[in-house]
Amino acid sequence: MYLELKKLTVQHSEDLRCALKVIDNNAQGVCFILDGNKVVGVLTDGDIRRALINNIELTQNVAKVMKKKFTWLGCQASTSQIQSTLSEHIKYVPLLNSKHELVDFACAHHYRNIPVAQPELNGNELAYVTDCIKTGWVSSKGKYVKQFEDDFARYIKSSSAIAVSNGTVALHLTLVALGVGPGDEVLIPDLTFAATANAVLYVGAIPVLVDIDPQTLCIDPLKARAAVTSKSRAIIPVHLYGHPADMDAIRTLARDYDLLVIEDCAEALGTLFHGRHVGTFGDASIFSFFGNKTITTGEGGMAVFDSQAVYQRANMLRDHGMDPERRYWHSQIGFNYRMTNIQAAIGVAQLERVDYFIDKKRWIAEQYSKRLGVISNIKLPTEYGNVYNSYWLFTIELIGSLANERDDLLRRLTLNGIEARQVFIPLHDMPPYKKYIKTDSDFSVASRVSNASLSLPSSSKISELELSSVCDIIEAMDKRIKIPAL
Ligand SMILES: *Cc1c(COP(=O)(O)O)cnc(C)c1O
Repeated sequence: MYLELKKLTVQHSEDLRCALKVIDNNAQGVCFILDGNKVVGVLTDGDIRRALINNIELTQNVAKVMKKKFTWLGCQASTSQIQSTLSEHIKYVPLLNSKHELVDFACAHHYRNIPVAQPELNGNELAYVTDCIKTGWVSSKGKYVKQFEDDFARYIKSSSAIAVSNGTVALHLTLVALGVGPGDEVLIPDLTFAATANAVLYVGAIPVLVDIDPQTLCIDPLKARAAVTSKSRAIIPVHLYGHPADMDAIRTLARDYDLLVIEDCAEALGTLFHGRHVGTFGDASIFSFFGNKTITTGEGGMAVFDSQAVYQRANMLRDHGMDPERRYWHSQIGFNYRMTNIQAAIGVAQLERVDYFIDKKRWIAEQYSKRLGVISNIKLPTEYGNVYNSYWLFTIELIGSLANERDDLLRRLTLNGIEARQVFIPLHDMPPYKKYIKTDSDFSVASRVSNASLSLPSSSKISELELSSVCDIIEAMDKRIKIPAL
């Protein structure tokens, strides 16, 4: 069970009755007494019981009874320090930053954990899913699928959208619907999630790996141009970590060589390029609603098409290739890539709050940038050109004297219960894709970025204090302050 920090806190100006209510509500037998964010005392239900026996009234101030001397640890305490501090008598330890502010707490079942990403499902998700179950519409028929597609299309301002079971099948579906197949070459960035390359291979086409631009971390349009051959059929720009690829250059390239453009927007819902939503610049685009993405349906995806005819073909292919006018008549080999009504119900509720999620991601980026911007050897993500970054994961690159410290930073964060993620491994390094490397390819940027970068906690649920404690660890690394080994 994850206990929210605020359920453990009481302001020092409150009375004992208020503290008793907090303790009753959190069922942990304890609360931390705060002056602003600073911890000034600890109060247990036993302390209040003893006070009552001594005829102290419940209307008395908590400061009268709380323990002013209590055990606490710095928020950089390692797991082993926390372990050795907890005991039969000290079941809760507040974790404090250098200003003595409460960052987190540790107890036997909660050491502290700040995840890279996590779903936030406290809108209408439960109500809509309950509706599916109560009405029996749990499969892929039901009102939420259509509603999710319509709401989604309206949000990104596309003419239509097709909900599917995940982002990977959305990629496969777009490639099949656009007629990409054996012998065709498809330009993709070297630094992306493997699904981008896999979908190309599913249709028998050849992925042509292209190095990335060092600023956007997306496919380098000039290097893509150099990789074009007479077999080139399509390009899949991936808007990595929320920053859009240079769609002006990519569209020019596509026009020059008659290439199809399929945008992989799995990590970029809400990202704008020249004020326009990514996913509306090419012949097709895909989105993912996996649990760690900007909005989630558990598993899920969306495919968007520019042409109405291709949209209709994709719609049919999603449903076994069955003719919509003639049941059980199959004119093509299709797939079952349908999204369930339950997934879509979650999606409708998530989409109701999409602006909140993106505002939160941008707020997180702002907080990190303020604190980390002063460290000279960290390259922060930002906005290159007329773009609006949705900052799916705030991904930093260690440069200069810190360039070799990525693994040390990962270790320091892990020791402190902070999850961070190394960026993707370049595709050209991995066995299934090695054989598609062209002899004159140069992947120096992707290799460098991959070795020196990591994504910091970017969950919409993260608090200001948690963000600050992540920055504390990075500052300590920059100053080469030693931390205890696990
Ligand atoms: C998540 C992701 C996908 C695949 O999405 P799934 O829904 O997990 O299948 C594809 N491309 C990129 C860049 C992704 O990050």
